[in-house]
Amino acid sequence: MQIKALIAKYQEIADFLNKHWPLKDKSQRVFARTMKVVEELGELSDEILTSMNLQRNSKIAKFSRENLEDEFADVMGSLILLSVELGIDVEKVMQKKIKFTRERFEMDKKKN
Ligand SMILES: [Mg+2]
Repeated sequence: MQIKALIAKYQEIADFLNKHWPLKDKSQRVFARTMKVVEELGELSDEILTSMNLQRNSKIAKFSRENLEDEFADVMGSLILLSVELGIDVEKVMQKKIKFTRERFEMDKKKN
């Protein structure tokens, strides 16, 4: 799936969420989406700690790679939902950041 198609799918999800669980205004939506990013990042952190055997045994016993991947997807999805509320063009800003990073490390000048 291309990034534009991914964003379009999440725009549909954002529209659904805003229709079925409307918040007072844009400010509340941005706050709610930001808190969701934090929540999902915590859940991903929990899975990573579990994968490293740094959680209690009952969690370690239930660990699965699928859960870790699901939480990773939740983080990405919640970030995209936040981008929708903030009006951020994810593809554009990521291309800009990749260009910045490549220039910073002079990646196009180095052979290896
Ligand atoms: Mg989650």
